[in-house]
Formats: sequence, C-alpha cells, structure tokens
Amino acid sequence: MMEKLLGKTPDELKRAALEAGLPPFAGKQLARWLYVRKARGFDEMTDISKEGRESLKRMYLVGTEAPSSVSESSDGTRKYLFGVSCDRNGRTEESAIEAVMIPDEDRKTLCVSSQAGCRMGCLFCMTGRQGFHGNLSVADILNQFVSVDESDSLTNAVFMGMGEPLDNWDNISRALEVLTAPWGFAWSPKRITLSTIGVLPNLKKFLDTSRCHLAVSLHNPFPGEREAMMPVQKAWPAEEVVRLVRKYDFSGQRRVSFEYTMFSGINDDKVHADALYRLLRGLECRVNLIRFHKIPDSPYEPSPAPVMQRFMERLNNHGITCTIRASRGEDIEAACGLLAGKHKDRL
Ligand code: SF4
Repeated sequence: MMEKLLGKTPDELKRAALEAGLPPFAGKQLARWLYVRKARGFDEMTDISKEGRESLKRMYLVGTEAPSSVSESSDGTRKYLFGVSCDRNGRTEESAIEAVMIPDEDRKTLCVSSQAGCRMGCLFCMTGRQGFHGNLSVADILNQFVSVDESDSLTNAVFMGMGEPLDNWDNISRALEVLTAPWGFAWSPKRITLSTIGVLPNLKKFLDTSRCHLAVSLHNPFPGEREAMMPVQKAWPAEEVVRLVRKYDFSGQRRVSFEYTMFSGINDDKVHADALYRLLRGLECRVNLIRFHKIPDSPYEPSPAPVMQRFMERLNNHGITCTIRASRGEDIEAACGLLAGKHKDRL
C-alpha cells in the first residue's frame, strides 16, 4: 500500500520530496498544502512543478478520504462515516469509523475517533460491544479534521469518539503534534480535550508531553462496582489514575474533568456522590454527569432526571463543580456511547 503524506512532519516531508526527485524546500510546500490549505489531491499543489506532482503521485497518497455518508440530527449535530484500513497485528482490516460535529452557539466541536472499535470492553458502550478492528493511522485521525464539511470553521476537538485514544498512543501523539505545531494546523492545545478511561502508562506520557485538556471516564467511585462495568479497572484502578492526575497542575489554563455516565440504581446513589467527592477532594476539576443512552440488550437503564439533579447538587454542596452535560445527536445515534461505525451488515 502506498504511504500517506498526511501526518508527516516537515523533516519527513522533506525526505519524501527528495525521494520523489523534488528540491528540499518542497517539504515546506507540502506541509503548507497539507495542513494550512488542506489540499485533497496533488493537482491542487500548483506551486510544485507538474513533473514533481506526477512523481509524488506515483509514490505517495495525500491521505485524505471523503466521508462515505453524513447524517444530520434535528439539533444540528452531524455524524460522518469514514471507511478506514486499519493495521491489526500486521494485517490490514477494512472497517468504518465515525466523527461527530457538534454545533453550540459560536462553537463547532469535532468528536474524533481514534480506533475502529475498541478493546476495552466497557459494558455500556456500543463501540466496545463491536470488538476491536484496529488502530487508526495518523492520516485517518487527521482526515476527520480535514474532510468534514466544517473543516475550516471547527473551534474545538474532543477525542471522545470510537476507541480509547491512549490505546493508540503513538498515532494519537503524532496527531496532537500536527494539530498544535506552528507548521501544522497551529491549534492551541486549549482547543483540544483527550478523553480516556485511564491507560496509566500512556496517560503519564500524555500529561508529560502535551498541554491539551484531559477528561477521565470514571463512572463509579467504588473499585468493585467500577470493575463490573469497566474491565480496565483491574489493570489500572481509578484511584491510581486520580493519584497520577494529582501530580500535574490543573489550576491554570489546562483543565481536567471527570465523566460520569449515570445508570439507574447502579451508580446514582448519594453514597456514590459522597465517595466521588472523597476520591476527588482537593483536586482542581469538574465532574460532567452524562445521561445514559440505552443500547440494545443492555441491563443498564438511564437515571431519571431528578436523580441526576440531586446527584449534581450533592457534589456541588461538597464544593465540587458538577454539571449535567446536554445530550446531542441522539436521533442519529451520535450521542455518547452510541458510535458504532455502522456499515454494511455490521452492528
Ligand atoms: Fe472503549 Fe470508550 Fe467504549 Fe470503553 S467507553 S469500550 S474505552 S470506546
């Protein structure tokens, strides 16, 4: 398969240019076309000679891919489906992933996928249920930014789509570099949030090397109960994740939040609110309560709205900033936990 240029650094693009017989400065030209002008094909790169473009075409792909379908919610949320070729233990697997654009007043936030499927197996998640089909390449991660209709007007990005970003750390860290580098998309890290269930070794790397915001999917403060919903708890307990997070400074520009999906009779009692308070006490953070969107054949039910309200107030009374996150795009299955990359006969 031909190599894709999207996701390469200026040095790597310079090497690619030289291999294609172009002068060294063509590396910078390529970076501009890929990351500033968001070219979708070599023919758009008009300051590169025709001969040079033909040579590039023979050796490389740009790496952009148009979505195979788009659906729009009554609330303006738009869900894009992309075909991807994933690497899975050295084998290439064809799959599909989704990216969701969520408009909100003057913001347009892109919810980005990092894997096709997921191997973390959280019991309440549609993506987890479909199993793992492979890691997205850097090009497939960045293509979601380049190929949505709102590419030029996106204001924020959250890595909260399909997959666990820290389970694909090498490609995610490169994508974050391209997104925030002056030679790349030049986004401020303040515009980007990475959400994780807490893959500890890579969480440390993320916290050390990036200034993007962090969201931790917590969902239950009691270890045994959390493990029953999220097998990851066994390998990387939430208490250790919080202990690590406490070592970093979140009192300034960088923020940490804890995501808490509410399941009726499972994690919505006042003892959960109090234990959550004890776990997070003294940490500069916010808790986002998320309404559960029921998935087929799941024993879980969403907590009623008044229960969520009381839970929020209890945390607020403890001094923890807590909000109930508005649900978006439910009618097109774009809301939290519903992304499945539906195509052909799969799920
Ligand atoms: Fe994977 Fe996130 Fe779903 Fe858990 S909630 S299975 S980590 S996509």
